[in-house]
Amino acid sequence: MNLQADVCIVGGGPAGTLLGYLLAEKGVSTIIIERSSGVNRNFRGEHINAETEAILKEHQLFEKIEELGILKMKKVEYFAGKNIVNTISPTNNEDHVGIHVPQSHLLTTMIQESEQYSNYQILFHTTVKELIQDERGFFIGVKAIKDGEEVMISSKVIIGADGRYSTVRKLANIPTVEMKHGYDVLWAKISAPEGWEPTTRMVLVNGLQLALFTQTGGYIQIGWNIEEESFPTLRRGSIDPFLQPLIESFPELKESVSQHLVSWSDFVCLKVISSRSDTWVQNGLVLIGDAAHTMTPTGAIGINCGLKDAHVLAPILTEALFENNISEQRLKIFEENRKIEINQQQEMQIKQETSFSEKFNQLAIV
Ligand SMILES: Cc1cc2nc3c(=O)[nH]c(=O)nc-3n(C[C@H](O)[C@H](O)[C@H](O)COP(=O)(O)OP(=O)(O)OC[C@H]3O[C@@H](n4cnc5c(N)ncnc54)[C@H](O)[C@@H]3O)c2cc1C
Repeated sequence: MNLQADVCIVGGGPAGTLLGYLLAEKGVSTIIIERSSGVNRNFRGEHINAETEAILKEHQLFEKIEELGILKMKKVEYFAGKNIVNTISPTNNEDHVGIHVPQSHLLTTMIQESEQYSNYQILFHTTVKELIQDERGFFIGVKAIKDGEEVMISSKVIIGADGRYSTVRKLANIPTVEMKHGYDVLWAKISAPEGWEPTTRMVLVNGLQLALFTQTGGYIQIGWNIEEESFPTLRRGSIDPFLQPLIESFPELKESVSQHLVSWSDFVCLKVISSRSDTWVQNGLVLIGDAAHTMTPTGAIGINCGLKDAHVLAPILTEALFENNISEQRLKIFEENRKIEINQQQEMQIKQETSFSEKFNQLAIV
């Protein structure tokens, strides 16, 4: 199959899907290729902040996502054992400290809104295999495999929005520095007991963070930081002593924990890394989201960063295409716009990681 589009986006996660919508809306012919078969993703960034809320509102997406279901967090609470030692409440004009948005609701809305445009196409179950370059070294398309068949997509610009292990980044030979953070995260989902407040709860367990994110639909997502690469050793022991601090802080979760966390297989281990790519732009190619800069789970900002990338890149790319100037220099405006903030956010994550235990030092209501 041979296809053609102005822009070929590899990866239909939050960043790629929002960019696809914003380009399609402006009349740019756009194809997204996505490796998975639909919009369901397990254990991904699902909390958005006020800035992302404003971006989604600006693009008339927020209300539609809200119709599918979201949950506003009322506060963040820090627990020492059973006691709350610190509380963060919404500031001034806000009515939340973060919103849980199931990724399926976010992606479904953006895809449905995009599909009203005939210049938009999304191909699921399609994996990029090769990038095509012309004799000058400009990227002019991709080869992908869809349901076992080869698909060739010719494009003016390729977007690598294919996440932390980006194939596009590797195929374009863009050097990337990966940083470890001394911890990995165990994720699990359990049902919330009756009357459980929509709050984000943090506990300090052996100097590491245990986070409980309340979710839409009556669930709690657990993000439990463990020593880096310690999961294989942990798995060899019994799960019960490990779960003890969770039950001690939240006795009301005992039944749900015993139902949902029966064995270590009920946890998914996320290897925590952050990364910085030397460049986000080459001739005819742009990296966005985790592909350009993987964030750690600290502060739950990964999804927010990816969505902002798409929001910032869309007008720059649209204008460049309409003016028929997609030079590296022109597209670099996007990187110049975003890189400083991303670097600052990554530094902030490290600061938060190293000072996390200080939040539990004294009784303080913020
Ligand atoms: C297990 C896990 C848990 C996380 N938890 C949190 C959290 O709690 N809070 C938070 O803020 N962030 C979290 N993150 C990070 C957050 O999910 C990301 O920052 C965010 O999803 C980045 O969006 P993205 O669109 O750049 O990339 P992704 O969401 O990773 O999307 C990339 C897309 O590209 C597709 N793809 C990959 N390779 C190919 C290929 N070769 N061909 C075609 N398609 C391809 C993938 O299927 C995927 O849909 C988590 C990440 C992981 C992996």
